[in-house]
Amino acid sequence: MAAAGDLLSRVHDRLAAEAVAGVTTMALDRIAEELIRAEGAVPAFKGYPGPPGSIDFPGTITSSLNEQVVHAIPGPQRLDEGDVISLDCGLHLDGWVADSARTIAIGEVDDEKRRLIDATHESLLAGIAAARPGNCVGDIGNAVQTVVEDAGFSVVRSLVGHGVGRDMHEPPQVPNFGAPGTGPGLEPGTVIAIEPMVNAGGADVVMAPDGWTVSAADGRPSAHFEHTVAVTADGPRVLTGSHRDPA
Ligand code: MG
Ligand code: MG
Repeated sequence: MAAAGDLLSRVHDRLAAEAVAGVTTMALDRIAEELIRAEGAVPAFKGYPGPPGSIDFPGTITSSLNEQVVHAIPGPQRLDEGDVISLDCGLHLDGWVADSARTIAIGEVDDEKRRLIDATHESLLAGIAAARPGNCVGDIGNAVQTVVEDAGFSVVRSLVGHGVGRDMHEPPQVPNFGAPGTGPGLEPGTVIAIEPMVNAGGADVVMAPDGWTVSAADGRPSAHFEHTVAVTADGPRVLTGSHRDPA
């Protein structure tokens, strides 16, 4: 899983360098797919079954712009100065899955977007710090929620993190909210994807007609950071690299 995570970290580093004004989300998707396949890995999102009546996911990444929270399909839209884009990617390498997301600022963004990115990233770090033996899933959610709400933002509640291993989505669910000391216990060997999805405005989200794209109901910006994290006897081990300072 560490090898899968290391590759995914490098994919994200490349995407962060390529995500500039004028680039299409489809171009970013192609870069990610080529890099993943060149290393003998397989994109995990491509072909992921959609809800009834919608297409299977066609991309290697999800590319969610501004008020889009998660799961937006890459396409011909171009990044603009002042956008925030949340890039999520997963891959299979030698039978193991890694899953990670980052939100990137395109050029100069307004103060609210900057604070949103910083608070979301900080909430992920707080969640990771709580991922240690003896703690529970609720300790992670509480740590994330506390950072987010102290910053004046809202945790999305209808989407959650998850266990990860041979499959991308395994038990337990890992909500970004909760009470300390509640939920499943964390044992050494547990691997989870911790992934705060944070709205600048209210927590409510809406689904687009494509069956995939989830957006903030009030149209205000949203951000998303995610790491695949192993719970070890020594504490949390981040398998998908360490973020640099948010872009
Ligand atoms: Mg993800
Ligand atoms: Mg995930």
